[in-house]
Amino acid sequence: MECIINRRAQFSASRRYWLPELGEAQNVEKFDPCAKFPGHGHNYVLFISMSGELDEYGMVLNLSDVKQVIKSEVTSELDFSYLNEVWEEFQATLPTTENIARVIWNRLAPHLPLVRVQLFEHPQLWTEYEGEKSSLTVRSHFSAAHRLAPNLSAEKYGKCTRTHGHNYHLEVTVEGEMDGRTGMIVDLGCLHEIVEREILELFDHSCINEDIPYFSTSHIVPTTENIARYMSDLLQFPISQLGVKLSRVKLFESDHLWVEYEGKDSEIFFSVATGFSAAHRLADPTLSLEKNQTIYGKCSRINGHGHNYYLEVTVQGEIDPVTGMSVDLVGLNQIIQHYVIEPMDHSFLNQDLPYFTEVVPTAENIAVYITNVVRSPIEELGAKLHKVKLIESPNNSCEIYARDIEESKVDRIYPELAAV
Ligand SMILES: [Zn+2]
Ligand SMILES: [Zn+2]
Repeated sequence: MECIINRRAQFSASRRYWLPELGEAQNVEKFDPCAKFPGHGHNYVLFISMSGELDEYGMVLNLSDVKQVIKSEVTSELDFSYLNEVWEEFQATLPTTENIARVIWNRLAPHLPLVRVQLFEHPQLWTEYEGEKSSLTVRSHFSAAHRLAPNLSAEKYGKCTRTHGHNYHLEVTVEGEMDGRTGMIVDLGCLHEIVEREILELFDHSCINEDIPYFSTSHIVPTTENIARYMSDLLQFPISQLGVKLSRVKLFESDHLWVEYEGKDSEIFFSVATGFSAAHRLADPTLSLEKNQTIYGKCSRINGHGHNYYLEVTVQGEIDPVTGMSVDLVGLNQIIQHYVIEPMDHSFLNQDLPYFTEVVPTAENIAVYITNVVRSPIEELGAKLHKVKLIESPNNSCEIYARDIEESKVDRIYPELAAV
C-alpha cells in the first residue's frame, strides 16, 4: 500500500543574482532588483515529499529520522546563510528558488525516498522539483460575481443560481528547462504580466455572467470548473511564447473548494476541504510500552493526545457540458460528512472507531481508512476518487492516491462499509 508523506521545514537565507562574467550594467538589466548589493533574503518554507509502502507500524518512515536528515543535510547548512557561497552548486548556477529546490533534491535523494521537493519563496511564489522536471507557480487573486446560470434550475441548485461573489485565488503553474547559469526556467516578470493582462484585468471586480463575453454570449455556466478551463485556454499560447509550458491552472473558489485543470479536454480534478478534531494514541496493543515508546515516541503516551485534522478529498471527473460541473457537490459533501466527519469528529479514534482498535491510527492509516470508506459512495455519484490528503499538523501530512490501494484492509474487516 503506497503512501506519500510530506514533511515541512524552514530556513531563512539571503542571495544575490549576479554573474561575474557580465558587467554591472548587464547584471542590473538582467536581474534588477535582485542584482542589488549585497543581496536580499527570504523566509523559505520547504516541503519534502516521500513515498513508500506502509510498514507494520503504519508508517512510511519514522518521522523523527526524516526530521534529522532534513536538518543535518539541508536546514542546518542553509539557515542564516548567504546562499551564493554556502554550497558550491550555487556558484555554477545562481540560487534561484527553482535551483535551490533542485540542489536540495540532489542532496537528500541518497537518504530519503523522494517524490517531490516543494520550496516556497513566499506564499505567492513557489517551485516544485520532481527529479527531472522543474515547475514554478505564481498565485494571484481576484474578486468576481457569478451565478450558476443560464441553464440551471433554482430548485436543484438553490442559492448558487442567485448572483453572488467570491474572492478567487488562482495558481498558474509552468514547467520548463532550467538555464544552467541563471537557474531560471522562465522570466518571472513576463509571467506575472501575462496573468495580469489575460486574467486579472478581465475578471477582477467583474460579474462573470455579464461582463465576460465567453460566458455572456453562450450557455456556458461559470462554475469553477468552466472558469478554470477558460483561463487555461487564455493563458496557454502567451505562456508558450515564454518558452515554457502551462502545466496546470488551479482555481480556488474558497479555502474549501477548488479545481485543477491540466489542459486535457473536459478532464478536471475537483477538491473539497474540511476537518475534524480527534484524539489518538500511537501504540500497538500487542507490544510493550517500552517498545511502543521506541517506535512512536511521545505519540505513544498512554492517555492519548489530539489534533485538528484537515482533510482534502479530490475527485477526478469530466466537466458536464450542460451544468458545467464535474461532480454533485452536495452529494460529495454528504458522503464526507456521513462516513468521516460524523464518526471521527470529537472522538478518541483508538476507542470510538472499531477499525482503530486493531489498526494503529497513524496519519497514514487514517488516510487509508478514509480513502476506503468514501471510495465506493463517490463512485456511485458518478465520479472517481483520486486522492485523499490528511494534514495532521502544519509540519506533517500524507496523501493516498486511490489507484495505489486496490485491495483494502478496510474492505476485508468491514465488508458492509465497502458494499455501501
Ligand atoms: Zn459561487
Ligand atoms: Zn498525533
